[in-house]
Amino acid sequence: MSKFGNSTIINKKTPPSYVGRFAPSPTGPLHFGSLIAATASYLAARSKTDSAWLLRMEDLDTGRCKAEYAKSILKTMETFQFQWDGEIIFQSKRNNNYQDILDSIQPYTYPCSCTRKQLQGQTAENPYSYIYPGNCRESLANPDAKQTSIRLRTDSKTLCFDDQCQGKFCQNIKEKVGDFILKRSDGLFAYQLAVVVDDAAQGITDIVRGADLFDNTPRQIYLQQILGYPQPDYLHFPVATTHDGKKLSKQNQSREITAHNKRSQLIDALAFLGQQPPALKEFTNLDDLWRWAVQNWDSANIPRKRKIHHEPATKR
Ligand code: GLU
Repeated sequence: MSKFGNSTIINKKTPPSYVGRFAPSPTGPLHFGSLIAATASYLAARSKTDSAWLLRMEDLDTGRCKAEYAKSILKTMETFQFQWDGEIIFQSKRNNNYQDILDSIQPYTYPCSCTRKQLQGQTAENPYSYIYPGNCRESLANPDAKQTSIRLRTDSKTLCFDDQCQGKFCQNIKEKVGDFILKRSDGLFAYQLAVVVDDAAQGITDIVRGADLFDNTPRQIYLQQILGYPQPDYLHFPVATTHDGKKLSKQNQSREITAHNKRSQLIDALAFLGQQPPALKEFTNLDDLWRWAVQNWDSANIPRKRKIHHEPATKR
């Protein structure tokens, strides 16, 4: 095994100079928010001459992800004529890789017996999130705990990166997040570990995703540095929200993307991303629209905001 785990893409002799990806979590069918993510990452890749665009199903959370949703997402993407390269990676099949990588950085990790309940409510701004205070750093706070999570030791350096849409961002991970979880106490690998391992395994050079993940990025860069992985470039576009500022998601009944009126849904997504697509009547079919979108894609036009209120039309 290489330090990337088992991978197919990275071993290619001359990988494309731009490798992008779309990494949905199959917790529901494709909705408007995820159509935006697919479209932005797709066009950012396809507008480059030497590029690949890969797909990854982030289906680690067995409680929330379902095979039928993964199928439905792929089917919708096919009807929208998204063309991805290579094999689709399913994170649920890669547990051995994550474990091997986790074992390889054991000196940086430690087991933790604290439960979320014990830790929640420690920050006034958000009672549901907490900064891990390091209770188990030296030894287990509860030595009798039956199940423990695995946390990554953070240091007090401030980590900065330049986002292509949001600009420069610096975070002191230890102060803002604390030592974070790489493997949960129920045995599931955490998103932060899996995403870093898989982006490296797939040879991703450019990550284009929603700004809801913007402040997760320093954690991911920190982990990349520990693992000796290259750092991809990042572009975090604004997320679409409901009128009360909540991210459009399957949970808040964001409209499911349908096979009808594909062109107008795609035009909506393009307009959301600050592109200026001509009116629907200018395109006789989806091919025409994709051609226009690839030729005219300009990341510089994406609004430099973290979120934008968007109520998709209910009738089409
Ligand atoms: N799986 C995540 C989601 O569906 C995206 C993760 C990422 O792009 O890093 O929101």
